[in-house]
Amino acid sequence: MTELLHMSDNYVREFDATVIGSGDGYVVLDKTAFYPEGGGQTSDRGELSGSERTITVKEVRKIEGEIRHLVDGQSFEIGASVHGIVDWARRYECMRFHTCQHVLSRYLQLNYGVETKGNNIKPGESRADYTPLESFDEEMKRKVEAGVNAIMSQNLPVEIRNMPRVEAISFLEEREYQTRYLEMVPKSVKEFRVLLIGDYDAASCAGTHVANTSEIGGIMIGKSKNVGAGVRRIYFKLSAP
Ligand SMILES: [Zn+2]
Repeated sequence: MTELLHMSDNYVREFDATVIGSGDGYVVLDKTAFYPEGGGQTSDRGELSGSERTITVKEVRKIEGEIRHLVDGQSFEIGASVHGIVDWARRYECMRFHTCQHVLSRYLQLNYGVETKGNNIKPGESRADYTPLESFDEEMKRKVEAGVNAIMSQNLPVEIRNMPRVEAISFLEEREYQTRYLEMVPKSVKEFRVLLIGDYDAASCAGTHVANTSEIGGIMIGKSKNVGAGVRRIYFKLSAP
């Protein structure tokens, strides 16, 4: 089992770890600050250094129940001590995009009654899917941008709270946050990691986020398209904070 350092602290950029698994092109560590692809958020990249050499981490993925760091070059042997460095520019951009997506989703839920169906968080441009949303014209885009930017400019603190499953669901339901997606979380997951953005939004999410909405910058909504079954995909970029 790999301890995921980002679950308690999204700002860990470097860490020391021990290799507990090794194979052709991959390394498994006892702990890691690398975010493994999942929950719509792209994987981190970076590097791992041993006593004699440094190898590139191209991607981190959950494979066969393991968190595998897919690496370029010869993997490290089990028992080796390594130092990991996360490509911070890339990760931090994902944190800004991911936090922005939560605010956007909540804004659309409150103002247009739509539900979030999925997301894809990555540097440069991210996207999220909403239903039911038949049209999304220029006037609506500008209105949503202004609304989301007004919320983010309130410098809302972003907090992580771990709660037992039942408590988390009732916490979110009582406050009328979106909860339908929680049915998809396997019953084996007994504790939820609840993300709170001021008292504006709360959601169960294992992704990475900034500590305050002041770090995000401004949302710029780009194209949107109908992807079927009343689902609309919205693309967005961020301006510098
Ligand atoms: Zn999230």
